[in-house]
Amino acid sequence: MENKVTADYLDEEGCLHCGTCGKRKQMKVSLIGFEHVVSCLCECEVKARQELDEKMQREEEQRQLYQRKSVGLRERRFWEWKFENDNRSNQKILIARQYVENWTDMKRKNVGLLLMGPVGTGKSFFAGCIANALLEQGERVMMTNFSRILNEMTSYQADKNQIIQNLVDYPLLIIDDLGIERNSEFALEQVYNVIDSRYCKMLPLIITTNLGLNEMKSTDLDTAHQRIYSRILEMCVPIYCGGEDKRKEEGTEKLVQVQNLITG
Ligand SMILES: [Zn+2]
Repeated sequence: MENKVTADYLDEEGCLHCGTCGKRKQMKVSLIGFEHVVSCLCECEVKARQELDEKMQREEEQRQLYQRKSVGLRERRFWEWKFENDNRSNQKILIARQYVENWTDMKRKNVGLLLMGPVGTGKSFFAGCIANALLEQGERVMMTNFSRILNEMTSYQADKNQIIQNLVDYPLLIIDDLGIERNSEFALEQVYNVIDSRYCKMLPLIITTNLGLNEMKSTDLDTAHQRIYSRILEMCVPIYCGGEDKRKEEGTEKLVQVQNLITG
């Protein structure tokens, strides 16, 4: 029986050959009149080196992905919100999938989403799925919420402009759970500034909220709220993520709208 792994051997010139692939591990070169034996790589060694390079590259990509996620996903629970963790209870996740599949177009056309519905509809989960999928594709995404942004802004010696500039630097910004928690004049001003700065740079924005369209379009709102909501509605296609209810028709109509945006 033939033994596949055999020992290296010397050829008639005295150069070492690989016992496995049979290729040279040494060769002779002439240098200023003298002959030298130098090492070279046999096929097995070339293959091993390539595999090592590829492994190191994969590890480097994983490291960069971890870095992008650590910076961009501002809450630990966002890390688990991925398409593969979906329990298939809400078909509206298809919108999120389409958004990711058409990301280049969404980015170019500056299409954002306003994911609406009560607690438990999965709207934040959908936004997280988009964030994770795009981060895994190498895109830079920031997913955060306004309480966090406002906390940063009011912390000691914070540079508000720098914080806003940083948020504009992301190709996609996702604001989870827009409810405008603190209705102070300062808070509303900063919320508007963040949204408007992305509007001016024509960069997409995804927002999740418990607010209804009627609430956001209400004429009873004060000016500060009105200008925030009207900007959002200019930038984002409203998607109702809840189940069957009185808002169903509206959701269906908008669903067609976003599908048209995606395919058109
Ligand atoms: Zn070999």
